[in-house]
Amino acid sequence: VTCRTTGAIVAILVLLIQSTAQAGVQDAASPELHPEVASFEGAIQDARSNMMANPPAALASAEHAETYIDDNVPPMERGVAYATAWWLQAEALTRLARPGEAQPLASQALEQLGSTPQRNKLYADLLLCLGRTNKMLGEHGRALDHFQRAYEVFQELGETRSQSIILQSIGSIYNDARQYERAVEYYADAIERYQDPSLDLSAFNNLANVYRELGRRDEALDYFNRALAISQDIDSAMLEARILSNIAEMHIAFQEYDAAEASIILAFDRAGDPSGAEWARFMWGVRAQASAGQGHFYDAQRYIERTFDGVDIETTSQHFTKFHGAAADIYQALENWRAALPHLRAFKRLEDESREFGASANTALVGAQFDFAEQELEIEQLRITSLEQDLELSAAQAQQRLYIFTGLLVISIMFGIGVYLRNRVARERAKDLERALYFDAETGLPSRQSLLRQIDSAPRQLTDDVFVIALQLERHSHLESVLGFAKYSELLVQVAGRLQAIVGIDSVTRISSGILGVKLDCDEERQASRLAEQMRDCLFDPIHIDDLDIDISVITGIACHESGEIGLKNALIALQQAQVEHQSNMIFSAEKYGDPSENLAMMGRMLNATQNGEMVLHYQPKLNLRTGQIQAAEALCRWIDPERGFISPDSFIPHAEETGHIRAFTEWTIDQTARDQVMMHAAGYRITLAVNISGALLVDDEFARIAMRLANQAPGSISFEITETAVMHNPERAMANLEMWSKSGIKLAIDDYGSGLSSLAYLKTLPCQELKLDRAFITDVATSKRDRMLVKSTVDLAHNLGLEMTAEGVESEEGLTLLKLLGCDWVQGYVLSKALPLAELIKFLGDRRDEDPGADNIDLSNRL
Ligand code: C2E
Ligand code: CA
Ligand code: CA
Repeated sequence: VTCRTTGAIVAILVLLIQSTAQAGVQDAASPELHPEVASFEGAIQDARSNMMANPPAALASAEHAETYIDDNVPPMERGVAYATAWWLQAEALTRLARPGEAQPLASQALEQLGSTPQRNKLYADLLLCLGRTNKMLGEHGRALDHFQRAYEVFQELGETRSQSIILQSIGSIYNDARQYERAVEYYADAIERYQDPSLDLSAFNNLANVYRELGRRDEALDYFNRALAISQDIDSAMLEARILSNIAEMHIAFQEYDAAEASIILAFDRAGDPSGAEWARFMWGVRAQASAGQGHFYDAQRYIERTFDGVDIETTSQHFTKFHGAAADIYQALENWRAALPHLRAFKRLEDESREFGASANTALVGAQFDFAEQELEIEQLRITSLEQDLELSAAQAQQRLYIFTGLLVISIMFGIGVYLRNRVARERAKDLERALYFDAETGLPSRQSLLRQIDSAPRQLTDDVFVIALQLERHSHLESVLGFAKYSELLVQVAGRLQAIVGIDSVTRISSGILGVKLDCDEERQASRLAEQMRDCLFDPIHIDDLDIDISVITGIACHESGEIGLKNALIALQQAQVEHQSNMIFSAEKYGDPSENLAMMGRMLNATQNGEMVLHYQPKLNLRTGQIQAAEALCRWIDPERGFISPDSFIPHAEETGHIRAFTEWTIDQTARDQVMMHAAGYRITLAVNISGALLVDDEFARIAMRLANQAPGSISFEITETAVMHNPERAMANLEMWSKSGIKLAIDDYGSGLSSLAYLKTLPCQELKLDRAFITDVATSKRDRMLVKSTVDLAHNLGLEMTAEGVESEEGLTLLKLLGCDWVQGYVLSKALPLAELIKFLGDRRDEDPGADNIDLSNRL
C-alpha cells in the first residue's frame, strides 16, 4: 500500500509539475543516498523507488548506477543499461523542472537503443520523457510528435495507464494553446481511459484549472473538490495544500477574496511550515493576492515580499506572471512606484512570452492534429460530420451536381467503416499525409520532397555527390492553358513514363508545373550528360493524348552535389542558363554562376522590358465571400520577350532577387499599379490592387519609403503581399518597415502561408490583416478530407488572430463552395479568372456587374 501510495504521489507530482500554473515545485528535501548499494541493479532500484517522492535522491542513484555499468554489467547488456541509467536521470531532472538538462540525456539514451529500437516500455518511456522536456521547453511540435510515438508503443503494449498520462499531456498542450475546450476533451478522455487515484487527481485538477480559464466557476470548483477528496484519501497533506491553494486562486479569479483567504489559510495549515520549500513562494503569492483583493495592502505587501524573496525579478519564469501582476498592483496601491515598475516590466515580458508559447503550441497542434491515434480521430470526426452536414445542405440546393452526392455517399460509407476501423484509418491518415507530402496531387508523380528524400537518405559515403537532372517542358504554361489541367497532367505522366523507361532512371519526380527531376545513379559527368541526352531524345516523338499528337521540346540542366536541396537548386539554375543561352542542356558551373554576365544580361533586358512595354501587369480578381463582390485583384507580372517568348516570373524573379534588380523592378510594379488604379477609377471601379513584394526588400529602408510614397500616391487602395519566409529572415528590420507601411494605411498580406515553416506565433506579431493560404492546401480541398481539416483549423486560427483568410489557387466551383463553408473570407483562382490585362479586368468587372446589378450579397451556394 505504501508503495502504491508513494507511486501515486510521485505520478501526481509529475503531472502537476507539467500541467498546472504552479510548475517548478521542488522539495527542499535532501537526497537520501544509499552508498551501500554498490551495484548497478541496486542503484537502479533505488532511483526508481525514489523517483516519485524524492527526485534529487533518484537523480543521485541514477548517476551512481551509471558509474557501475562498466564493472557490473556484461558487455552485451551495457547499451540498455546506459539507456536505463540516463533515462532515470532525465526523468528525475524533468521532475525537478530542469528540462534543459534532461533532454540531452534522454536523446542520448534513445540513441543507445539503436536505429531500430525494440518497441518496448523503455523505448516508450524515453519518448514520453523527451516529449515532456519538449513541452516544458516550449517545443510543442516535437512534444506532440514524441507523445504520439510513445502513445502508439504504449498502445501496442496494452499500457493503458501510460496512454492516459499521454492524453493528459496532450491536453495540457491544448491548455498552453489556450484551446480550452479541446483540453477538456483530452482530460476527460484520460480519465475514462484509466482509473487510478493519482491520475484522476491530476486530471481533475487540470480540468478544474481549464474550467477556471473558461470562466465556469461551478464546474471548476466541483473538479477541485474531487481532486481534494482524492488527496485526502491518499493522505497526502502536501497535495491537499497544493489543491487548496489552487482553489484559492480560483476564488481570486472570480473575485471571491474572503473565500480565497479561507482556502489559502487552510492550505498553509495543511502544509505545516512550508518555509524553505520552493513551492511555498506560490502559496505566499496567492495569499498576497487574496489580501490585496480585500484591500489589505500592507499585509499583501508582506506576503508578496516572501514570494519574491531572493528571486531575480528580471529572469523569473511563467509561474510568476500572476504574482508580478499582483506585486505591481499592491505597490501601486501603496504608491510605491519604484517598487511597482520592475514588476510591471516583468509582467509584460512574461505575458509576451506566454503568448508566444501559446501560439507555438497552437501551430504545433494545427500541424499535428490529424495524426493522433483514435481518440483524436473521434474528435476530428465530430467536426467533420458537422462539416459534411453543411456540405449536404448546400448540395441539396444543387441537385444537378449529382456527383457531390456520390461523393457524400462515399464519404458516409467511409464513415461507417471508419467507426470500426478507427485504428486503421489513423494509420491510413498518416499514409495520406505522407502521400500529400511525397506525391504530386495532380499527376501522382513523386514530388520534389520525394526527390530530396531519395537523395538525402540514399545510403552512401558522406562525400559522395549525387547527380540531379532537371528537365523543363518549354512553353509549359501555354500547353497547360491550351490542354487544360487534366490533359496536361496526363501529358506529364506520359513524359515521365518515357523517361522512366531509360536505363539508369528509376523515378521521375515533379518539381513544379513544367519541370521534372531525376536523381541519377552514376558518378561521372559524361555519363550524366549522356543520360540527359537520352532523356531529351526519347521525347522527340510526339505525345499522343485523345487523338491529339502533341509535340514537346525540352531542355535539361544537370548538377551534382551531396545535398539534394543544393543539387536541385543548381540543376534549376543550369536550366535557366540553358534557357538564356538557347542551349538544350547545361551543366551547372559554379564559375559561370559566379560570373553572372548572362544573368545580368537577362536582368538588363528585364528592366528594359518594364520601359518598352514588353513587361506588363495582369490582374487576378479576388472575390470577397462575405459581400459576394470582386473587391480586390492581385498584380502579376507578364513578360513577353520578342525573342524568347513568355518568360515566367518564377524564372526571373528569383534572379532579380539575387542580383538586387528586384528593387527597381518592384518600384516599377508599384508605380504601374498606381497608374492602373487611376484607370480603374476612371472606369468606375474601386477595388484594392495587391502587389507582390519580395522578401529581400523588406529590410531595405529606402525602398520601404519609396514604396510607401508610390502606393500612397495611388487614388485607391494598394496592398502588399509578402511571403512568410521573407519576414523570418530578418525580423527586426522587416518589422520596422512593415509597421511603417501599415501605419500609412497600406494593407499587408502574408503570401504562400503554409509553404514555409514559420509559426503563427511569429506571424501574429506582424501588422498584417490577411493570410493567403498556399495553393498546395487548396488544390485538393474538394476531394481530400485531410486538406479540408487543415484549411478549417487554419481558418479558425487566423480568425482567432484577427486575420482574414484568403484561399488562392481555387479552380473548381465545389472548391469555392467548400471554402466558403470552411469560413474563408476571400478566394482567388482560375474558378473566377486567371490574371487579366487591365482592360480585360475592367470588362470582367463590368460583366459581373451586368449579371448581378448592384449585387451586394450574392449567395454563392446558388451559383452551383
Ligand atoms: P504568387 O504570388 O503565389 O501568385 C499566384 C500564382 O498562382 C500566379 O502565378 C498565378 O498565375 C497562379 N494562379 C492563380 N490562380 C491559380 C489557379 O487557380 N491554379 C493554379 N494552378 N495557379 C494559379 P505566376 O503569375 O506564374 O506567379 C508566380 C509567382 O511569381 C507569384 O506567386 C509571385 O511570387 C511571383 N510574382 C509574380 N509577379 C510578381 C511581381 O510583380 N513581383 C514579384 N516580386 N513577384 C511576382
Ligand atoms: Ca502573391
Ligand atoms: Ca501565393
